[in-house]
Amino acid sequence: MSSAAVPVHAEIPPPAIQEVSKGIYAYIQLDGSWFLNNAGCIVGRSSTTVIDSTGTEARARAFHAAVRQVTQLPVTTLVNTHSHGDHTHGNFMFADSAIVASELCRREIIASGNAANALFPMVDFGDCPVTPPTVTFEERLSLYVDDLKVELIFVGPAHTTNDIVAWIPERKLLFTGDIIFNGGTPFALGGSVGGWLVALERIEALGAETIVPGHGSVCGPEVIADVRAYLQFVQETAKRGMEAGTPPLELAQDLDLGRFKDLHDTERLVPNLHRAYSELQGKPWGIPLDYVQMFREMLIYNGNQPLRCLA
Ligand SMILES: [Zn+2]
Repeated sequence: MSSAAVPVHAEIPPPAIQEVSKGIYAYIQLDGSWFLNNAGCIVGRSSTTVIDSTGTEARARAFHAAVRQVTQLPVTTLVNTHSHGDHTHGNFMFADSAIVASELCRREIIASGNAANALFPMVDFGDCPVTPPTVTFEERLSLYVDDLKVELIFVGPAHTTNDIVAWIPERKLLFTGDIIFNGGTPFALGGSVGGWLVALERIEALGAETIVPGHGSVCGPEVIADVRAYLQFVQETAKRGMEAGTPPLELAQDLDLGRFKDLHDTERLVPNLHRAYSELQGKPWGIPLDYVQMFREMLIYNGNQPLRCLA
């Protein structure tokens, strides 16, 4: 096993753990770009529940150490918000916990393993043995950290086919997984643009005051409108492009991103348009698209530069 430390990049701060409500912590890895995800932990009186892990062996070990800084209580439960490797590769550090996720999330983790690593050859992933969820549900599951209720709610297909959010009503606190990107471009390659808009309505109705997004800084519910605006922009652009018979890559290359140009990872526009085209053609939400082709097109969009990944 490699024991490499988390790489240091001058332009981003190191990962940080911050208390967002009494005994509830967000683990934030800025700037939230590719593979820099957020996680969290809920410390009870007798045990701790962790929400998501991280994407590389070094980052998984650093996250585990950060949890250990705030509590020595056993981690009895790990929740995975969705199957993507940046949120689940580090599951192996919590292999003696119950790992809870949607049934579709478990299936996807088993089917894909660490396959996404090949798309990011610049990253030292270390050794992250695939560690799938052990407790699954379809629509809703309540779990309790001592007497604090955490409602796990399936909201897919949205960012992926298998998204859930973790809602803590007593604190009006919501862990959204990648339903919310704060400061980054939403990424719908593996999910559904239309489904994601429905998911945003559902999470908005919960009435959260504090949101721990899947990527980017802790925020309030106002960020829901930003993600919605971007997805609507993708849908409207795709509609115009389909009518004109323009392929998604070409459409993206000629497009003025306007207010969305300063989000990081703008190249996600290309697969997002492919996803929106697929839906406009009446194909089912969440139907698999060709990942390898989509990553190739993102590189072309970026002027044949590798994706910027600081993980
Ligand atoms: Zn994700």
